[in-house]
Amino acid sequence: MSKIATLTEFITDQQILNPQATGDLTRILYDISVASKVVNKEINKAGLNDMTGDVGQENIQGESVKKLDLYANNVFIDALEGGGQCAAIASEENEEIIILDGLNSSKGKYLLCMDPLDGSSNIDVNISVGTIFSVLKRKDPNKDVSEDEFFVAGNQQVAAGYVIYGSSTMLVYTTGNGVNGFTLDPSIGEFYLSHPNMKTPAKGEIFSINEANEKIMPLGVQKYAKFCHELDQDGKRTHTARFMGSLVADFHRNLLKGGIYIYPNTNAAPTGRLRLMYECSPLAWIIEEAGGKASDGKIRILDIVPTNIHQRAPLFIGSMEMMEKAEKFMTES
Ligand code: MN
Ligand code: MN
Repeated sequence: MSKIATLTEFITDQQILNPQATGDLTRILYDISVASKVVNKEINKAGLNDMTGDVGQENIQGESVKKLDLYANNVFIDALEGGGQCAAIASEENEEIIILDGLNSSKGKYLLCMDPLDGSSNIDVNISVGTIFSVLKRKDPNKDVSEDEFFVAGNQQVAAGYVIYGSSTMLVYTTGNGVNGFTLDPSIGEFYLSHPNMKTPAKGEIFSINEANEKIMPLGVQKYAKFCHELDQDGKRTHTARFMGSLVADFHRNLLKGGIYIYPNTNAAPTGRLRLMYECSPLAWIIEEAGGKASDGKIRILDIVPTNIHQRAPLFIGSMEMMEKAEKFMTES
């Protein structure tokens, strides 16, 4: 039986193979994986320990904050602060960037953007949730860290990934050399390489759009949804609809099976609903590395330069051929 690599072995080997990669980035990925195991444990027993439900306050996005949102936020911040490689974090749960003054803070060469718990409203009903992260490299680590350093396009990311807390827990990430997925063996608390060099099918059948928004979304998306409803010559369905409203879960399914996820701008959310820096950009890099495509309907997500850490963007993401079709409807409408 050939030996399956653990996440730690894999990232260490990658570092040896790629002289550009530094031990610092390896340490960040390791810290994220450890934090995700702690969060995973809490999510698995959320119904038992009074961790479901709201804290009773709203975050800066006007969304109700769940107890597990704050728990996960603290676990990831503590893990990265302990590691010392990150100078600051932009988190969905904090209006301002968090400057880390841990052991080696002044030498922190990286910045982290994160959605510590994505899809958290689904915790109470036992649907998969996730963590999304994006790592940026600082231009000048000797300077005092400032918010401006975060305002670079997603094509400047040095690592990006997500954890899905589902029927099994997986960590999926890229550093620009393809996408690799690791599954947690909960009995020993170790992530193993289960999905090496992930590729998304160029053609897909799944479309993930909240069609309750039909009347308030752009004409191009309405037309694309209509196109997905069409039957072939034999009267058979050409597409199938899947939408959980849990971004990481919807994305992960489509990545594996082939599909498109669209959260467009709507009358209710004129700039879209998802956050560019810690939702759209990391997933956009992963889909591109897996052979797919991501845009705001017209512009490549990875080329958008943010001006606000909580900036929103419309998101079109998925299989190449489906994306090309959807973008055609957008340009023509
Ligand atoms: Mn989210
Ligand atoms: Mn969240």
